[in-house]
Amino acid sequence: MRHSCEAISPWPAGVLLLAIAVAGMTACGHPPASSSAGIDLAGMDKSVAPGDDFNAYTNGGWIKATPIPADKPGYGVFTMLADKTRQRLLALIQESAKGGSAADASTRKVGDYYASFMDEAAIESKGIAPLKPQFEAISAISDRHALARVLGGQLRADVDPLNDTNFETGHLFGVWVAQGLTDPEHNYPYLLQGGLGMPDREYYLSDSPHMAALRKQYQAHIAAMFKLAGFDNPAAHAARVFALEMKIARVHATRVESEDVHSAVAWKTAELPSKAPGLDWPALLDAAGLKDAPVLIIWHPKAIPGLSALAASQPLDAWKDWLCFHTIEQSASFLPKAFVEERFNFYGKALSGIPELRPRWQRGMDFTSAALGEAVGKMYVEKYFPPEAKAKAQAMVADLVKAFGRRIEALTWMSPETKAKAKAKLSTLKVGVGYPDRWRDYSGLEVVKGDAFGNAERAGLFEYHYQLAKLQQPVDRGEWWMTPQTVNAVNLPLQNALNFPAAILQPPYFDSNADAAHNYGSMGAVIGHEISHSFDDQGSQFDASGRLANWWTKDDFAHFKAAGEALAAQFDAYKPFPDLAVNGHQTLSENIADVAGLLAAYDAYRISLHGKPDVVKDGFTGDQRFFISFGQSWRNKKREEALRRQIATDGHAPEQYRADAVRNLDPWYGAFSVLPTQKLYFAPADRVHIW
Ligand SMILES: [Zn+2]
Repeated sequence: MRHSCEAISPWPAGVLLLAIAVAGMTACGHPPASSSAGIDLAGMDKSVAPGDDFNAYTNGGWIKATPIPADKPGYGVFTMLADKTRQRLLALIQESAKGGSAADASTRKVGDYYASFMDEAAIESKGIAPLKPQFEAISAISDRHALARVLGGQLRADVDPLNDTNFETGHLFGVWVAQGLTDPEHNYPYLLQGGLGMPDREYYLSDSPHMAALRKQYQAHIAAMFKLAGFDNPAAHAARVFALEMKIARVHATRVESEDVHSAVAWKTAELPSKAPGLDWPALLDAAGLKDAPVLIIWHPKAIPGLSALAASQPLDAWKDWLCFHTIEQSASFLPKAFVEERFNFYGKALSGIPELRPRWQRGMDFTSAALGEAVGKMYVEKYFPPEAKAKAQAMVADLVKAFGRRIEALTWMSPETKAKAKAKLSTLKVGVGYPDRWRDYSGLEVVKGDAFGNAERAGLFEYHYQLAKLQQPVDRGEWWMTPQTVNAVNLPLQNALNFPAAILQPPYFDSNADAAHNYGSMGAVIGHEISHSFDDQGSQFDASGRLANWWTKDDFAHFKAAGEALAAQFDAYKPFPDLAVNGHQTLSENIADVAGLLAAYDAYRISLHGKPDVVKDGFTGDQRFFISFGQSWRNKKREEALRRQIATDGHAPEQYRADAVRNLDPWYGAFSVLPTQKLYFAPADRVHIW
């Protein structure tokens, strides 16, 4: 479970987007100017009472003064840092290009991958020729056996239900490879529902006028893509694709159902034809490289039989149209400009409300970072993450782990048995700081200069084969799931591990020279958040070895569940639009992690004072600075469409409400003299603590 929803991109997940696609950047992208205490004073709005609207109090000045750049779905601290990081990466690539053949092989591949994407003339001159072999393979499908082979050959490792909580793929199924839910000693292939071009079933089935309008635009977009690819009668092809996706949406699980780890089942490969009849499973699994896997973990045991049945019941021609459309769609970024623009018209403008396409170099940087993640990460770390920074960040992590342990010890509602298990889980938590212990080897990935389309295809397949190879290897608890250049952090429930990439360990989150109150309120809360994920409604179901197992006494679990329900009710009450509320259950894991992480960070801050009195800086006490820094770390603005999309598809509540986690902390009330008459006030009994 990752820290922020920054990974929301105007592009749907798919074969060519392996990792994150952070939002765009502008030349003005830089972290806020801050005081010596690390607080952005000008960005506050002191005319607002902190007890009425804490987000406006800490960020109101910035919100008023800052327009969302025209090429972004939103703007905030995460975006600014991603911008800064991307600019640094570009400079590194340009520098290594000057060195020519002197660079090492993986650095050369990074340079060639990026340069090929930037070579627009080569892309334009090829036109739709790169799509031809795939169109021919689809057009040759004459029976259900051949259909299953093509569907299987397209599968990629493009989803992640637990670490990244990414459930979206335009392929019929998404594949994920990780240790078994109840067998931590072995890796298994996980199969997830897929097949939609819009982000979630809600977009197809909701009766809101907003979604109905998007459906019209989507169908027009499908037709436009067919037209660009030279198909006759594009409207008829589009109607068939859309009708099939409506049927697919009807068998899909909801976003909240997708979060239920207990619904996953392990099916023997040989059982698939009887448990999910319709598809020619042997043909599909053979083409997907999965025929030798004895068992598959089926994440969506209702949707996958539903999809399989559709593969048999729907006309072959509808499936062939659907395959052609998704083939165009998933490669559009590497095709001529007309495709890129049409894709942006729907995914950027219509779905996320972004007026302008990002400059090409920024997209190229993100695609390169996705395809050659750790090769790019190694370049970044060598220049920007010295061993001292790693040591300081590790010390802060150790502080937070200690503070969290003390909180477990002090819980009055938890039995000694459950406490002992929780402490065992905390003591075996494996924390990765900055970058992985071993860098990945890219020697098997062929990067051809001048072949952007082919490079992207090969990178998608290279990643898929890398993941499948894990099926024959021992489980690696040190495996990283975020690249070092990612501005984010992640908890890995099956590995009982955390990753804090180098790129988030920089100001304004973490500055080894800054005020302790600031560092604990921002980076401390991020670290506390990730630790807490091991103990949220999802993570608390896995034991110290990452096995899905109940280690709670009945009463303790009932208490924990009830506290979670109270927090879900808090978030259900947030309504950014009259017709749309935050979903308290969809966002529960993240909200538990925010509250518990902030509590642990606050404790760690107080411990770091070693009994010395709190000092006033910039007119604020240490406690005030701690909470203001927390509020400012959630600084963000979003366009309406992007916000609606986040609420429909993301496990993270909108940032403005995440800043309100402070309402659950007793010291916040004292720090800002919050009164019962103020809007954010909760009576002590209504404040949710959990951990
Ligand atoms: Zn999180």
